[in-house]
Order: sequence, then structure tokens, then C-alpha cells
Amino acid sequence: MITLDLMNTARAVGLFYPPDPASCDESSLGGNVAENAGGLHCKKYGVTKDYVIGLRAVTIEGEVLCTGVYSEGDLFDLTGILLGSEGLLAAVTEIAVRLIDLPRSGPTILAAFDRPENAAQAVSDITCSGVIPSVMEYMDGDAAACSNRYEKTLEIEQAAAILLIETSGETSEKQADQIYDICRKHHASLLKREANPENAERLWKLRRNLSKAVKASAEEKISEDICVPPSRLPELVSFVAELNAEYSFRVNSYGHAGDGNLHVNFLVERPDEVDIGLVEAGVRRLFARTLELDGTLTGEHGIGLTKKEYLHLEFDPATLAHMKKIKTVFDADNLLNPGKMFT
Ligand SMILES: Cc1cc2nc3c(=O)[nH]c(=O)nc-3n(C[C@H](O)[C@H](O)[C@H](O)COP(=O)(O)OP(=O)(O)OC[C@H]3O[C@@H](n4cnc5c(N)ncnc54)[C@H](O)[C@@H]3O)c2cc1C
Repeated sequence: MITLDLMNTARAVGLFYPPDPASCDESSLGGNVAENAGGLHCKKYGVTKDYVIGLRAVTIEGEVLCTGVYSEGDLFDLTGILLGSEGLLAAVTEIAVRLIDLPRSGPTILAAFDRPENAAQAVSDITCSGVIPSVMEYMDGDAAACSNRYEKTLEIEQAAAILLIETSGETSEKQADQIYDICRKHHASLLKREANPENAERLWKLRRNLSKAVKASAEEKISEDICVPPSRLPELVSFVAELNAEYSFRVNSYGHAGDGNLHVNFLVERPDEVDIGLVEAGVRRLFARTLELDGTLTGEHGIGLTKKEYLHLEFDPATLAHMKKIKTVFDADNLLNPGKMFT
């Protein structure tokens, strides 16, 4: 089942399935479970694992595993083991999820800043203030410009960074006031507030088009996906700006800022003129800085093939060895997704 179909079906009867990866119009619930997907609403409402209450999964031996509500009660948390296991352990065939009441949606705020650090500091201060927006997205000036070139949705020529924030619930207006104040304190150069859903949708278009727009802006796009504690986000966006200034190729970023998530894109316009080794060095520097900032090398895109060589930077040998042992218990001959996650 496509994620968006579940979200729409729930919404039609006043219910809400919050885990909404930006790929929700094409991703499947099975893939969401395999990657423990997050999304725009996950800061406030949680990620896939917070909504899955049971799984049926078929092992490589053809046995059917029943977890959570499909069993008489878990002893070991098998649901938890299968969530985020990237298809290495079993094929998930049935998923039971819980739904919540559809919250009252509040206004959308767009805040533009002259420095990426100011936008990131606003994110950090909003987090510290106790206000939990339902969505809080960050994009730097280059990413926003790509989106606006792809489809003009905003009358704004230049900004070093943009935040798009939505509040929800009974106190959504009051939360929006507090967010406004924090953005002003951090010298927002433009603030817009839209309560009308159609007008708000025009602002969200800027975010929705980002992935395609950034991809279209260069011949080669190497996209990384990292997370740091929100309080360290100012240091991370500052580092991304440094990389961008230093290299001949562009480095831009956007992400679910409420979770401290940032997609950092290395964008090469003319690949034959750029040494790919320099891009790889940039990626390694980004990872090193992320770990220095107490972050993680994979926010939401998983490990798969491309991140496996960096696993040892984040996990100690004993933890990694135990994860590999779990793989062996489920799939001794390494037939499911061979070569992914572990070498
Ligand atoms: C434009 C774009 C935006 C994205 N935004 C987000 C985002 O906001 N948040 C986020 O978390 N991710 C995001 N992603 C990453 C990705 O879409 C998610 O991780 C999603 O959950 C993957 O689901 P899928 O159905 O596309 O899985 P696939 O890509 O088809 O598969 C992913 C892995 O899961 C395994 N798998 C798939 N189905 C099953 C199953 N039924 N049982 C066992 N294993 C299975 C596959 O073997 C594979 O290893 C984005 C990707 C793109 C391209």
C-alpha cells in the first residue's frame, strides 16, 4: 500500500496517520517499516515505529512470523527488530497501525533569514521554548532558489535560509505567535503567516518541489542525509556554508529541521571538470563534523549500499557484531538483500 493512500483513507474519516515521508506519494508502507521512515510531521507525532502495532513477515525459510497484535504478546520485541531492518531479516507482508484523531491544523509560517545560522538558531530556540510545531522545515538559500526556479511559488528574490513551520491543535494560534517572536528575535527578514489552507499550500509547494528542483539544478547530485541535536543545527548549517564556499561545486541543504535532520547535497554541474575524489572528501568531512556534533550519519534514508562503509564510525564493534548475529539468525545464507548494510 502506498503511504499516501493510507493517509488519505484515514483523513476521509477524521483520522490521522502521521508518518509522512516526503516520498509518501510513491513509498510503500512495507518500505516505510523496512526503513523506519520519518517525515514532515514526525517531530511532533513520531516516526513509523511509533504507529506500528503488529507485523506479519515471511522469513527466507517460508515461515510466517506474527508480532504485536498478530500474536498473543511479544516476549522479545520482534516488531522492533524488524522495524528499520532494511529488508535484511524478512519480507513484511501485513502491517497493523494505530491511527490518531485528526488534529486541528493551524497557520503556516514562512520565515526568511539573511544568515543560515539565524534560521537554525530559531529552530533551536523554538525547540527549547517547549513549542512543538507539527512541521518545521529548513532550506538554505540555494535550495529555495532551485525550488523557486522550478516553479515560482514565492515572491522572494534572495534569502540565505527559509523556515516553513506549521502548528496544530487547540493552541495553534498562540504557538504561532511564539514562533513569530522567536523568528523576529533572530532577525527574520521576512515573515508570512497563512491560515487559509489554499494559500498555505502555495508556500508548501516550495518544500514539496525541493527534491526534484535540486536534482534538476545539476548534472550530478550526491545527497547525504544526517541528523544532529537541534541545538547543534547552527554549527552544522555553518559548516555546510563553509563547504559550499570552499569547493568549486555547490553544496546546499534542506531538511526536517525540527528533528535536526539535514539533507546535504553535493551538486556538480559539469562532472568532467570536477575531481570526484574532492566530492568524496567533502562527504567524509561532513560525516566527521556530524559525529563531532553528536549527530548520526543516517537521518532517514537508511544504510543500504552507500552508507555501509561508514557504519564503523558510528557504531562500536560489539554493537555491530550483535546486529550481524541477528541477521544470521534470520537469514544464515545471506540471501535477503545481500551486500546491503553489512559487507
Ligand atoms: C524524494 C524523496 C523523499 C524522501 N523523503 C523521505 C522522508 O521525508 N523521510 C524518510 O524517512 N525517507 C524519505 N525518503 C526515503 C524513502 O522514500 C523512505 O525510506 C521510504 O520509507 C522507502 O519506502 P519504499 O517503499 O520506497 O521502499 P524501497 O525504496 O522500495 O525499499 C527500501 C528498502 O526496504 C526494503 N523493503 C521494501 N519493502 C519491504 C517489505 N515489505 N518487507 C521488507 N523489506 C522491504 C527493500 O528491500 C529496500 O532495501 C525519501 C526518498 C525520496 C526519493
